[in-house]
Amino acid sequence: MTAALAGETLFARPGIRGAVRRGELLLHYQPIVELGSRRPVGAEALLRWQQPTGLSAPGAFWHETDGPCVQEIGQFVLDTACRQLAAWRAEGLCAEVSVNTDPRELSRCWVASVYDALARNGLPAAALNVELTETSRIDAADGAEIAAALIRHGIGVALDDAGTGFNALAAVSELPLTELKIDRSFVARLGDPRADALVRGLVAISRELGMRTVAEGVETEQQAQILEHYGVQRAQGYLFSRPVAPEGLANYWRRASDLAGGARRLIEELATTGASPATIAAVLNRRGTPGPNGRNWRPASVARVLASAVELPRQRRQG
Ligand code: MG
Ligand code: MG
Repeated sequence: MTAALAGETLFARPGIRGAVRRGELLLHYQPIVELGSRRPVGAEALLRWQQPTGLSAPGAFWHETDGPCVQEIGQFVLDTACRQLAAWRAEGLCAEVSVNTDPRELSRCWVASVYDALARNGLPAAALNVELTETSRIDAADGAEIAAALIRHGIGVALDDAGTGFNALAAVSELPLTELKIDRSFVARLGDPRADALVRGLVAISRELGMRTVAEGVETEQQAQILEHYGVQRAQGYLFSRPVAPEGLANYWRRASDLAGGARRLIEELATTGASPATIAAVLNRRGTPGPNGRNWRPASVARVLASAVELPRQRRQG
């Protein structure tokens, strides 16, 4: 899809500079799922440039950006993603968002703007992940200081496209990180002993350093199963959903939550055996039954479902 999008930029058009002011930028979102349960846990915000010829992805125009333009677009992405996430969370949808960050944005001033975007939208720090790309030359000392500040605040910091640059190990050794995103090129080559060894190695390093692993570009059930077997915790890719407009993400989340509709029946069944909400929550989590908001079941959320159970027959009759 990226190649098709890139081809569209061959047409004459005004530059990327000023695109924010012209209202030509928007975000699409790709769901991120937990591999074990397949429940959605968040989404990656992906920048798109709307032009008369269609939508372009950053691969087609990012090389044209300069410092001020990067700052302006970065602020747009951060503000838009945080505002959207707050709206979704208010509806019990999407719990976390990941934003891609150009290393040219990284500064103390930028860190302050990240905190500000969270505060303005009433979001907890843990709802945001910042993705840094290893290939884009992050100054080690500044990068480490900034990543550490974000993590202290509770924000996730991910190394994006891990394995594609020659400095993956350097980045992992120098930057404090909470997450490693395994590049799609390795996922596509799963089954090739070298790719498999590399994925297993990245998972082992992540585990040692207390990082979570996320696989990108997962397109087949077989890939998902291999990755899960290797201990990768999260994944995104066409197997689950392509990047979609905000309404598409909300629909995806609702559909995925509907799958959890069976949870209510199970909760009511277990309750008739005298099981406590804590026991029921443990059973649901062990079975990988998605909880409210795509999270684990807690005794309180089980209790809420039980308390609302008596309301259901009356609502059904009304409907
Ligand atoms: Mg990314
Ligand atoms: Mg990536």
